[in-house]
Amino acid sequence: MPRRRRNQNTLYLGDWNSLCQVCGMKYKASDLIRRWDGLYVCQADWEPRHPSDFFRTPRVVEQAIPWNSPDGSMAQTGTDINGNPIPPLGGGAFGADFGSGFD
Ligand SMILES: [Zn+2]
Repeated sequence: MPRRRRNQNTLYLGDWNSLCQVCGMKYKASDLIRRWDGLYVCQADWEPRHPSDFFRTPRVVEQAIPWNSPDGSMAQTGTDINGNPIPPLGGGAFGADFGSGFD
């Protein structure tokens, strides 16, 4: 239960009655505090913004690989157990096709 420090039914010049926007209790406006989300709240309902709201992911550095074999020219070929040549992976002349997989 929030504690009110002053009588809320007494006139204080320059001050006015207002409701806490969280608990709904009546306070003098000078007793309410603006919170990080813009609400005017009593002291019991005031809370700091969570630190994880300020967390930023590290900036992504270069993700490209430094070098690559062009056109898959290093693709493995050979013969099967009967001596028949095995075509390169993907069925192309040279090089593996890592694209669609519908060859
Ligand atoms: Zn409150």
